[in-house]
Amino acid sequence: MTKDERRTDKSGRPIYSIPAYRYESFMTVIRRYQRKAERLGVGVLEVEKIEERIINRIDPVTEQQKLVKYHDVVIEGTAPKLSDWEFVGRLEHDEIIGTILRSAPEKSIPAEYQKAEQKCEHCNKDWIRRKDTFIVQYIDGTYKQVGRQCIRDFLGHKDADKVAQWFEVILAAESAAIGEEESDVFSGGMSQPEYFKLDSFLSKVSTIIRLHGWVSRSDAKYDDYKNATADIALNWIFKPSDFKEETEAQNDDDLKLARKAVEWAQGLNGDEISDNEYLYNIHMISLAEITDYWKAGYAASIISSYKRTAEKAAQSAETEYYGKISDKVILEAIEYQWSTSFEGQYGTTTIYKFKKDNYLFTWFSSKEVISVATAVGTKFNLTGTIKDHNEYKGEKQTVLTRCKVEEC
Ligand SMILES: [Zn+2]
Repeated sequence: MTKDERRTDKSGRPIYSIPAYRYESFMTVIRRYQRKAERLGVGVLEVEKIEERIINRIDPVTEQQKLVKYHDVVIEGTAPKLSDWEFVGRLEHDEIIGTILRSAPEKSIPAEYQKAEQKCEHCNKDWIRRKDTFIVQYIDGTYKQVGRQCIRDFLGHKDADKVAQWFEVILAAESAAIGEEESDVFSGGMSQPEYFKLDSFLSKVSTIIRLHGWVSRSDAKYDDYKNATADIALNWIFKPSDFKEETEAQNDDDLKLARKAVEWAQGLNGDEISDNEYLYNIHMISLAEITDYWKAGYAASIISSYKRTAEKAAQSAETEYYGKISDKVILEAIEYQWSTSFEGQYGTTTIYKFKKDNYLFTWFSSKEVISVATAVGTKFNLTGTIKDHNEYKGEKQTVLTRCKVEEC
């Protein structure tokens, strides 16, 4: 699942794409948190399904095409207001890696907290037994960073602990959606950190992905027969004698890929990371050149994110614009990619995406003329007019209007 391209709905809520094959498992996890939320009696946790999409995904490792159905959801979990303060997020402090940000759904921790030290602005102690600190916001918009021990004092409310727990419930629900390990959310620095060199860890991740495919920690959680790539790599570090096949299979390309991926994450620039918590977090891990157990899931994902970015850059070089604007065109046997619908000012619009050779076509239609169940790669003959040429996510696309389509 892509974590680095988080889309948002019209009200700015993050959209999570859950593959259909694990949607039920996802909802099972959500229902567990819903029960917990109910027990706490402080807030409501809801999952709202926005749409279903069928995406033609190319596995970055095997390069095989896969048709995957996704459910796009938003998580509704507004933290309840306590007095005049509201929770905004949580900071995980690590003396080597730095500060990792975890914003609450619909909230965004200001970028300046990327530099925040571990401290409490309530009691002004800079040593806090538990590593995490919370960011809260006052009704006038000002923020404060508060240690766990001080939340009750700070908010002056007997149910403050409940709210802190509630806050972790929604973070956990969000983590289930983005494919982070639950234990990561609740780690809170309780265990003694042990660090692993990022290059060595990621070169193992590269080899494992090449040999066995990529499995995220959350995928592994839902499937007893799968082990997460990150955890296999850690086991390899702990017990190399169990990994003779992998050790033999490891080649220079794996090491190079690991190095390139680390350099890519290190080179992410200011704007990219201040807008995107995920990119910021992997940037911090890459700069430290180490990871610990809790961040290994993030760390391992650097490889797949890098491959996706590199792939996109390659695609962008390959894609070309078709024809000239306002040309009437007849396109034969173009391949259906995917479609998505949204409600706008003038009613429902459906976007259709097609591909042929190096050309990508987009058609905004006011009618739903092709069933959403249409298989990716289904061929259509299309007549229409070229309305525009533009770039979308680094790909050149030709925008069509006034189209007629017919399945071949
Ligand atoms: Zn304090």
